[in-house]
Amino acid sequence: MKHRLPQHCHWCGEEFLDTPGPGRPKRYCRSSHRQRAYEARRLGESRQLGPDEVIVSRRAWDALRDALYRLESAAEDVAVDLEAGTPTKSDYVQALAHLSEAVRQLQDVSVEPVAIGSD
Ligand SMILES: [Zn+2]
Repeated sequence: MKHRLPQHCHWCGEEFLDTPGPGRPKRYCRSSHRQRAYEARRLGESRQLGPDEVIVSRRAWDALRDALYRLESAAEDVAVDLEAGTPTKSDYVQALAHLSEAVRQLQDVSVEPVAIGSD
């Protein structure tokens, strides 16, 4: 039985299992993601972007930036709250809930490079 290795899709970032064998390791979790990555590369080349550059939508960029800002703010709030006085277990629980909510909002943000034919 072949050992399956966890990989991260180069398109969506989701973890998937690849079966080792001859040939290159899989880079994408599904063929549609391989296709969208190909189309995004083609679009980038047509706009003379470098191999490490991608085009993302303004909406996705704003959502990511906002979620990162909320996470940074939550981390600062928690640091200030826990450094003041002697935090109780309840303070830690509230801090963790506050941070977890900011992380959850960040996890809800989906940023994919714009591909030809995508909306
Ligand atoms: Zn994928």
